[in-house]
Amino acid sequence: MDRYRVIPGTAVDLGSLDPADTSAFSNGKSAAKTRLKALNDRMEALQELLFAEGRHKVLIVLQATDAGGKDGTIRHVFEGVNPQGVKVASFKKPTSRELGHDYLWRIHAHTPQTGQITIFNRSHYEDVLVVRVHSLVDRATWSRRYDHINDFERMLTDEGTTIIKFFLHISKDEQAARLRARLATPHKQWKFASGDLAERERWTDYQAAFENMLSRTSTDWAPWYVVPADRKWYRNLVISEVMIAALESLDMSFPPPQEGLEGIEIT
Ligand code: ATP
Ligand code: MG
Repeated sequence: MDRYRVIPGTAVDLGSLDPADTSAFSNGKSAAKTRLKALNDRMEALQELLFAEGRHKVLIVLQATDAGGKDGTIRHVFEGVNPQGVKVASFKKPTSRELGHDYLWRIHAHTPQTGQITIFNRSHYEDVLVVRVHSLVDRATWSRRYDHINDFERMLTDEGTTIIKFFLHISKDEQAARLRARLATPHKQWKFASGDLAERERWTDYQAAFENMLSRTSTDWAPWYVVPADRKWYRNLVISEVMIAALESLDMSFPPPQEGLEGIEIT
């Protein structure tokens, strides 16, 4: 899966990365689903271990355009995991109270505690994406944020957090197909927001902002992965594989049992 990791300091050109790529898994969709099921089971076991050991914190960041698949990713990649061990923080348009603070204030409050996995559905990266595209602050202000963010994430990792960031890369055609499906399917219509169409018109500006984000903030301590996301099954598989590998590399073990358990009889 290393092929999808953004090497720190390299320029990302999204146009040259195929959103429909499925090259790391050539056995097709149904075999992929079987594989994902096995990974889900492994994830469940690793999450329990993470909690039991109580040494690490894990932060997953998901960014994508509208209809990029953030919700579906969370549903499929974490299927079967104990809901007590995983938290999802969704970052919407900031409230006036949140805007009264620096942009990382609301983010920091949701970072994971020991033994926990937290998924950010959107994140502090909105402050160099939508904020940049819509000029909600001036250029000098958003330009400084890449460095702030790298420093913030460095601090979190120094303090025991493992950070993995996924950008779900879909094509403009695939976004159109998904928005059309939302419009046409009664049980999906609630998800359709006409505001998404206005954002779609700024597609090029967003792609440029994504490229800058990926180039400036993929670091050794908090890498970005650009996940080909036109095929949902492939997207799920890539993210699951990366996460399992990251959790395995923490080399966790269950804490020793309390002493004298051998002698105990339950009557
Ligand atoms: P869904 O897939 O269900 O549509 P969503 O994540 O798009 O989920 P919405 O409520 O539709 O949720 O959109 C949240 C909106 O909040 C997005 O348009 C996003 O750009 C915006 N937002 C998030 N963070 C910020 C921020 N810091 N400044 C301005 N807007 C923000
Ligand atoms: Mg939306």
